[in-house]
Amino acid sequence: MSTVIYPSPIFGPVHSRRLGISLGINLMPADGKVCTFDCIYCECGFNADHRPRLKRPTREEVAAALERKLKEMQADGQLPDVLTFAGNGEPTAHPQFAEVIDDTIRLRNTYCPEAKVSVLSNATMAMRPEVHKALERVDNNILKLDTVSQEYINKVNRPTYPTYDVREIIETIRSFNGHAIVQTMFMRGTMDGQDVDNTGEEYVAPWLETIKYITPRQVMIYTIDRETPDHDLKKASPETLNAIRDRVMAMGIPCSAAY
Ligand code: SF4
Repeated sequence: MSTVIYPSPIFGPVHSRRLGISLGINLMPADGKVCTFDCIYCECGFNADHRPRLKRPTREEVAAALERKLKEMQADGQLPDVLTFAGNGEPTAHPQFAEVIDDTIRLRNTYCPEAKVSVLSNATMAMRPEVHKALERVDNNILKLDTVSQEYINKVNRPTYPTYDVREIIETIRSFNGHAIVQTMFMRGTMDGQDVDNTGEEYVAPWLETIKYITPRQVMIYTIDRETPDHDLKKASPETLNAIRDRVMAMGIPCSAAY
């Protein structure tokens, strides 16, 4: 699969039917990836293949670059619908993440008050009080939970630190009291000969139970963008995703499926 390292600290805007005009904010270095996971499906590639030499942008650099871009977009008459924290790794791992969120909300309120602030996170830092409070302040707090099987997570998300505990992550997502959107990747196939299909009932049933326990505001399920030639990951079918989506919605929780 061809991988992508995003410019930093601002990339895009990207136009999408689902989100409208999304301006990306990347808190990682511009020349590599920094993440507390090393997912086998990561569009940025494996951590080991993209070790950065540059530093992360500072809070001041992020704010200055964001303001420059918003002024430019304002002059073009095309302001963003959403400011999305994503890019080359885990945004909440930035040491000034909370301050960056404050700056971003201030700039959003000045230039594009209708725009939403979204954070795409793997939830591994969300139990830290300052990160938790910052995520409470954003419009869309989107937290990854691909499965509730620790064994599967070790195989597919591959946490880069030894103390990762999925039960702690579940409790953390639940502690947002509904101010969280759970994002889950469903896929089929193998990696190094090991089965990585999480669409079977043995994965879906306990995941659904956990979704009910967490009661997020919304669930977003998706699958890999395209089949990947370098390892044998396969897309989950639209029928499979729709069936899972319908079971989430039957619990009274809004759910979208992208394929
Ligand atoms: S959490 Fe996201 S950025 Fe990190 S390795 Fe997984 S897919 Fe890539």
